[in-house]
Amino acid sequence: VLAAPPLAAQSAEVVALVGGAVIDGTGAAPLVDGVVVVDGDRIVCAGSRDACAVPDDAEVVDVSGRYVTPGLVDAHVHFSQTGWLDGRPDGLTAEEYPYDETAEALEAEPERWAQSYLCSGITAVFDVGGHPWTTRLPARFEDDPTAVHVRAAGPLITHARVPALQVDDEVYTFLPMGSADEARESARRVAEMGAGAVKVWYLGVGPERAPAMDAALAAVGEEARAAGLDLIVHATGLREAKAALRAGAFLLVHSVEDQFVDDEFLEMLVAGETIYAPTLTVGANWSRAISSVVLDRAAGIDDPNGCVDADTREKVAATTMLRDDMNSRLLDDAEYVYRRMRAAGRSEAIMAENLRRVHEAGGVIATATDAGNPMTLHGPSIYAELEAMQAAGLTPSEVITLSTLNGARAMRREADFGTLAGGKIADLLVLGQDPTQDVRAFRTVEHVMRAGELHSMAELAAAAGRR
Ligand SMILES: [Zn+2]
Repeated sequence: VLAAPPLAAQSAEVVALVGGAVIDGTGAAPLVDGVVVVDGDRIVCAGSRDACAVPDDAEVVDVSGRYVTPGLVDAHVHFSQTGWLDGRPDGLTAEEYPYDETAEALEAEPERWAQSYLCSGITAVFDVGGHPWTTRLPARFEDDPTAVHVRAAGPLITHARVPALQVDDEVYTFLPMGSADEARESARRVAEMGAGAVKVWYLGVGPERAPAMDAALAAVGEEARAAGLDLIVHATGLREAKAALRAGAFLLVHSVEDQFVDDEFLEMLVAGETIYAPTLTVGANWSRAISSVVLDRAAGIDDPNGCVDADTREKVAATTMLRDDMNSRLLDDAEYVYRRMRAAGRSEAIMAENLRRVHEAGGVIATATDAGNPMTLHGPSIYAELEAMQAAGLTPSEVITLSTLNGARAMRREADFGTLAGGKIADLLVLGQDPTQDVRAFRTVEHVMRAGELHSMAELAAAAGRR
């Protein structure tokens, strides 16, 4: 393990990171012995020493032997979920963690997650569904060098009727789409809340209901476009995902996981330039959370840089008191548990194959974790997701582009960030190891620059982990 390079205090307006390998996020080969010049909150130049002159008044930071990349983008997070089993009102924890208290704590302190993202090398996130207050986060965090860029979709629109989720219209709003008219009205309400996209939670429906629900989904799409907003859709079944593509979806927020995607799906996805944002690890993370309660052994927290806050670590460790609420089949019925495990393994294999198919067809893919779900912890859960994409067969360099430039595309912010180039906001990482050899190198992040401010890991971990 290399020690982090010593960095001078941040006083100069102009900073030049000199001598590192510059990996710009476009998929281009790393530029050895490169230079990144930053003036204020913007990159002035990223390239070779010849191409990027270091201004006389610049503060020079020696990053030789290091790797400079754009900040990571997580295209699927939820500020209004905790990363543990208490994060949704339909969880098994209602007795131990009253949901109204959880919801209040989340609203009171969204900085907690912003700091843990930044500490993990993530400089921008797309919140694809949450409480109404999440729609105010983009403005709140945009110019804050200790936070992250946010795009937020606000409350979900769904045909699904899940009584346990309808706890309080003010807190956890699900808007209805029982008919096309109702769907349009819901889309207008989301737009009025100031959301940056309109999200539909499109679960599978029976063949009788499917035509009417597909029409309602299409109506949401039309209404969203009329309001200048993108339609984004949770659709993990191939049939529902195709309906989403026909409705003009801009982003599919999960993998298709019930069967292999076919040519019809791939053609529509590529022709419509819909972004595919697989979530390969969230399911396994749920299983880890549930297993930890069943076995009454705290799950290990994969957090190499100490970015997860103390409250969350404490909750993850407190398994004993949740065990009484556990579905007894998980405790008693070995055959049931075995079938669940087999099904999970099957859907993981399908998700990996579908990622390869979308990639080979030329689809646009963005890296996404679904952070906020149990054991998909805000921030460091991105490392396992990057590694799962690499394990599925994508090259490290491709995974880097999916996690930087393509994430920025999912947020419609590629003009502002996602690559290292003159004019972009200075959001970048300094890594100790080479991510183009293996994306595990993102675990070796030593410094994070956000809007031109360079933060050390010690500083970031102290801010994120202290609570
Ligand atoms: Zn989600």
